[in-house]
Amino acid sequence: MTIKETIEALREELRKHNYDYYVLDHATISDYEFDKKLKELQELEAKHPEFFDSNSPTQRVGGEVTKNFETIVHEYRMYSLDNSYSKEDLQDWETRIKKLVDGDIQYTCELKYDGASISLTYEHGELARAVTRGDGFQGDDVTANIRTIKSVPLQLKGSDYPEKFDIRGEIILPFDGFNKMNQERIEMGEEPYRNPRNTASGSLKLQDSAEVAKRPLECFLYNITGTNLKIQTQIESLEKARAWGFKVPQVEKLAHSIEAVLEFVAYWDEKRHDLPYETDGVVIKVNNLYQQEELGYTSKAPRWAMAYKFKAEQVSTRLNSISYQVGRTGAITPVANLEPVELAGTTVKRASLHNADQIEKLDVRVGDDVYVEKGGEIIPKILGVDLSKRSETSQPTIYISKCPECGTELVRREGEAQHYCSNYNGCKPQIIGRIQHYISRKAMDIEGLGGETVALLVNEGLISNYSDLYELTKEAVIPLERMAEKSAENLIKGIELSKNIPFERVLFALGIRYVGETVAKKLAKHFKEINAIASATEEDMVNVDEIGVRIAESVGAFFSSEVNLHIIERLQQFGVQLELSEQQLQGQTNLLEGDIVVVSGVFEIVSRNELKKLIEDNGGKVSSSISSKTSYIVAGANMGPSKKEKANHLGISMLSENEFLQKVKFSN
Ligand code: AMP
Ligand code: ZN
Repeated sequence: MTIKETIEALREELRKHNYDYYVLDHATISDYEFDKKLKELQELEAKHPEFFDSNSPTQRVGGEVTKNFETIVHEYRMYSLDNSYSKEDLQDWETRIKKLVDGDIQYTCELKYDGASISLTYEHGELARAVTRGDGFQGDDVTANIRTIKSVPLQLKGSDYPEKFDIRGEIILPFDGFNKMNQERIEMGEEPYRNPRNTASGSLKLQDSAEVAKRPLECFLYNITGTNLKIQTQIESLEKARAWGFKVPQVEKLAHSIEAVLEFVAYWDEKRHDLPYETDGVVIKVNNLYQQEELGYTSKAPRWAMAYKFKAEQVSTRLNSISYQVGRTGAITPVANLEPVELAGTTVKRASLHNADQIEKLDVRVGDDVYVEKGGEIIPKILGVDLSKRSETSQPTIYISKCPECGTELVRREGEAQHYCSNYNGCKPQIIGRIQHYISRKAMDIEGLGGETVALLVNEGLISNYSDLYELTKEAVIPLERMAEKSAENLIKGIELSKNIPFERVLFALGIRYVGETVAKKLAKHFKEINAIASATEEDMVNVDEIGVRIAESVGAFFSSEVNLHIIERLQQFGVQLELSEQQLQGQTNLLEGDIVVVSGVFEIVSRNELKKLIEDNGGKVSSSISSKTSYIVAGANMGPSKKEKANHLGISMLSENEFLQKVKFSN
């Protein structure tokens, strides 16, 4: 054997033992033997760096240190899941999807593993990249850390895998490993970790991958994504994933009805307490991948999947006091301060009371014993009061009428649940909150500047709105508490870099009430530059798809303020992007303005996603179901019979892929 062959044989052997032990949970070699062979391989690789392979089993021990995780745009967006809590919710879901697809629907039921989601990209059977979910559109490249997780295959088994695909899964920390880690921490005199889920997710962002290697993390896979996969169903994709060497827990079930889904839910609601890892529900997916494609996505989640949340744990504890927080939009949130209590692995001290109506409805009073519930990452919630324990002298809660921060009389507009402090320019938490929102990751993503520093900058009088950030100098911030020369430099650099952030994110960053990421994108795309938005009438705005009166009013109010206009003018002077770039404008036309288009079937020249993008880029609207409002259908091969019938019945015309591409003057 040549050296190269010896190295490869060792790698192959170690890979197999790894797989047996970590994926199949069945050891086929002693630890001692394994370590000996690993060491042998390490020595050979050290002597022959020309045969280096980042996916060699020796790389599992980590060692690579990452200072800044690179941001990677997901080729396929990572969506979240819609939630359901009852039989009725599931039945409603079934009714909705039956309107959109033809044929029988079968469902796969899987457990919802509670950890941190991850997207792995494989190319030619090798792990190429691992990226966190981030905001769903882009995440952090954590490949070096993921490589150390032994149940993640670095090289796939078999040969029938697609040349390139993404596979999604959850990084979790089983209870056993979690408890062991905590024991060690306690022995070292350190604070124990709170819960497995946060510890798993924190582990992904450790800078030293050797640290990650020491943590008993696992990776459970559940979704294969890509094009030309040659897979027909979700069940088949789970089986394929297993065959290629991924760890896929053997719990899924194919259900032929919602009743069968509910049986699976009921079974696991009990049995989950015996599992060695945390689950917070069941994920139900339409099994047929073709039907999945037909169903598509809403702006947040696939229509073809649904999470069913297990009932959260509850405890009762005393309500010590109620305090009122002022958010960045001036919204007041009442917060319950509780006698600390253990719940679902964490200590709960506070819970949201939402608004005045909620307090009235529950008739919560200070001194009451209240029932608290906590599920997943949701802030604990108060469910009700134990009236048997209420003292006779107890008094109903009177909601505040003035802003606790600035004393302004609160307003509550008709139809709104929340009270607001209207002192937009003078209420400290609003000023600070707005700037904190501006710099946040999904907005201007200013590195080197955190929420606490923003508060400090405002309190020291260095800034009073986000446009002031651009006038900050290193010299001005250095005197701040805990600000070193280097961090001051980074702060200024981060602010400077934010001038490259594209217009739609700047628009979101402005913090206009009701203008979230999606709305900001829509407005940016339609109006193309800030002045057009500022001068648009409410009517102009309502004519934009998905923009309602409430949003239009709020945008109108924002731009009618002299102060805001002045701030925007300053942003413009500093060079912040307040219009779409040349690149973004490319390919944008009004050719399909007013058209409501349904896409159905399988296409040859462009993918379904590209088709949808073409429709939107050319000013049309994509709709998922055929109705009398549909302008026409772009029909590919295999369009379902009942869809065809419906189209014929309503007299809606059908365009072939080619006809449509001609219409939008598409050329390859
Ligand atoms: P949520 O974060 O509540 O929107 O739920 C969506 C997340 O559930 C996904 O991003 C996944 O990380 C996670 N998840 C856990 N188990 C599964 C599963 N079997 N199928 C799909 N998603 C899952
Ligand atoms: Zn106020």
